[in-house]
Amino acid sequence: MRTAIRAVGLTKIYRNGPWSKPIVALRDLSLEVMEGEIFGILGPNGAGKTTTFKILMGFIKPTKGEAWIFDRRISDPLSRRGVGFLPESPYLPDHLTAEEFLRLHAELIGLPGREADKRIGELLEMVGLEEFASVRLKKFSRGMLQRIGIAQALIGDPQLVILDEPTSGLDPIGRKEMRELILRLKSEGKTVIYSSHILSDVESICDRVAILSKGRLLGVGRLEDVIGEGDLEEGFARMVKGGEGDEAD
Ligand code: ADP
Repeated sequence: MRTAIRAVGLTKIYRNGPWSKPIVALRDLSLEVMEGEIFGILGPNGAGKTTTFKILMGFIKPTKGEAWIFDRRISDPLSRRGVGFLPESPYLPDHLTAEEFLRLHAELIGLPGREADKRIGELLEMVGLEEFASVRLKKFSRGMLQRIGIAQALIGDPQLVILDEPTSGLDPIGRKEMRELILRLKSEGKTVIYSSHILSDVESICDRVAILSKGRLLGVGRLEDVIGEGDLEEGFARMVKGGEGDEAD
């Protein structure tokens, strides 16, 4: 089995000018995600989840460390050729219909017209929005927007899908639908990495999780093994609290 992601010693220190205090957002993160896994990155707000994704996507450079996507260094843009990404707050042009929005993205990656038609149809079906193809995004609920965002991330048929807080702002039904969609992606052979600050979002569907708090990796593995015996929710809260107190160097 191939390694989808390998990170070694990733560290990110944000420095916003000479007078502001440097912020250590990520310290010495090393982990591996295997091909075909659903991998959850779990941690409270400010844990460093988005920073990790931004580094993998090449939006920001790590202060230290290195990472590979399918054995290609992330400093090589080709490493991201097979990656689909849903940012935490994606920009969605709400005057476009769902279909127009996906067509725009198909054009951006140079998908020929007929292939684009086929792909857009498949994706709308996959995310359960086929009946809303001609509805403008401004009429969409939060859950529908998250799903069209995922469809956009999938337009190039990526092997690896990275979703930043895909369940944020969703009601219980929306969360359940999102979990089902993630399971469907796995059944199609894709590797899925997604972040959440809510344990129940990752509990039932992740093969493995990484728990991050204040930029530190507190544990990685099967959720029950990482958190240990007893109530998961309490164990998670205890673990994250235990990780606090180590202030930035
Ligand atoms: P998460 O996604 O887990 O909520 P982030 O990666 O967004 O965490 O943030 C980790 C830490 O880095 C937080 O303390 C956050 O305030 C800080 N941070 C994030 N982006 C910046 C930035 N551009 N400049 C300064 N600090 C930042």
